[in-house]
Amino acid sequence: MNKAVFIAQTQVASAEPEKLFETLLTAYGEHYPVERTDGAGTIPFLMGTATLKLEDESFLVTAEAANEADLSYLKFAIAEGIVHHAGAQELNFFWEGDGAGEGYLPPFFREMTVIAVQNITPHMRRIRLRGNDLARFTTGGLHIRLLLPPKPPLEVKWPHLGADGRPVWPDGEYRLMNRVYTIRDIHVAQGWVDIDMVVHPSTIAAPGTEWAIQAQPGDIVGMTGPGGGDAGEADIYTLIGDETALPAISRILERLPATATVIVRIEVADEAEEQALQTQAQLDLKWLHRNGADAGTTTLLIDAVKDAAPVQVEGQRIFAWAGCEFDAFKAIRSFWRKECGLKREEHMAVAYWRRGVAEED
Ligand SMILES: Cc1cc2nc3c(=O)[nH]c(=O)nc-3n(C[C@H](O)[C@H](O)[C@H](O)COP(=O)(O)OP(=O)(O)OC[C@H]3O[C@@H](n4cnc5c(N)ncnc54)[C@H](O)[C@@H]3O)c2cc1C
Repeated sequence: MNKAVFIAQTQVASAEPEKLFETLLTAYGEHYPVERTDGAGTIPFLMGTATLKLEDESFLVTAEAANEADLSYLKFAIAEGIVHHAGAQELNFFWEGDGAGEGYLPPFFREMTVIAVQNITPHMRRIRLRGNDLARFTTGGLHIRLLLPPKPPLEVKWPHLGADGRPVWPDGEYRLMNRVYTIRDIHVAQGWVDIDMVVHPSTIAAPGTEWAIQAQPGDIVGMTGPGGGDAGEADIYTLIGDETALPAISRILERLPATATVIVRIEVADEAEEQALQTQAQLDLKWLHRNGADAGTTTLLIDAVKDAAPVQVEGQRIFAWAGCEFDAFKAIRSFWRKECGLKREEHMAVAYWRRGVAEED
């Protein structure tokens, strides 16, 4: 049956419901324009809307989305937020309504098969993955999570949904490593996505990079998503990133109209890592070379950001976007917020990785 809106609810009982309710709304307020009324808050996520309503010893969460997969993804995101912010408190909650139940494959999950692999630059490997029913991956965010299975001959076990909306992950030898990447390109009719993966040096295990190096046609991998990452609508853009953000920057550039102007600064190892970028927008592009320095150790990006500080122009909307190593991200976000006074809806800066730290840490 087709429905315009899919709805689910969960009652979250907590020792300190008001504190958890406030913590959640404050945390979500960092990323979304949360609407507050007395004892309630509504959060417009990318995949749907969540409303939190404070009650006596609990709060009620209502999740609404346009389709089953978005609702499932929304329930998962909310549940993760609740469990994360509850800290040591053990919470027991379960969803009722559309998509209730447990033990089935998440609707936002796809099993994908590698169909082609090529090095597009010395340290960027393009992996083409084929899968079914990919239309939902064209909108609602640029990023996906790759679920990397253990090596054969072990059988692959995928996550199944728990009643609280979070996937239950296979453990022990069946454990899946997961890493966030960007869909560089997608073709729904032919059923494939391209993921451009940086092959970086590492002194500790780097499952994403190791998988990319070894990937061959026929290998299978899980994919969940999509979510987040796109720049807001504007007339003047600033796009900043290192090579991990090149896929996202390339996709953002490809959708900008000819009326937009865009400053792009990208840090890469050297000239051999540069790629041709396509856009109709008026482009001011500079590649910044590390020239032998390790990734994540230079000030190339923050220096470039200071040189190209976004300036408010009467009647023009601005948007500044950055994806890079954690220290650079912190410096850039602080500069845009404190020195340039950019409002929340005028910028997005994200740490794509952190030097010396594996993603799960
Ligand atoms: C929203 C989002 C989108 C992303 N999109 C892409 C994408 O499209 N393509 C892409 O390649 N990456 C992308 N990344 C970055 C990618 O998820 C990280 O680089 C991730 O850490 C790689 O996992 P790994 O298993 O190789 O290394 P990890 O196991 O996470 O880390 C192992 C070691 O490698 C280091 N390391 C991790 N990444 C790098 C790097 N780039 N250069 C040098 N050292 C590194 C870590 O500091 C650590 O010491 C994205 C990240 C986010 C958050």
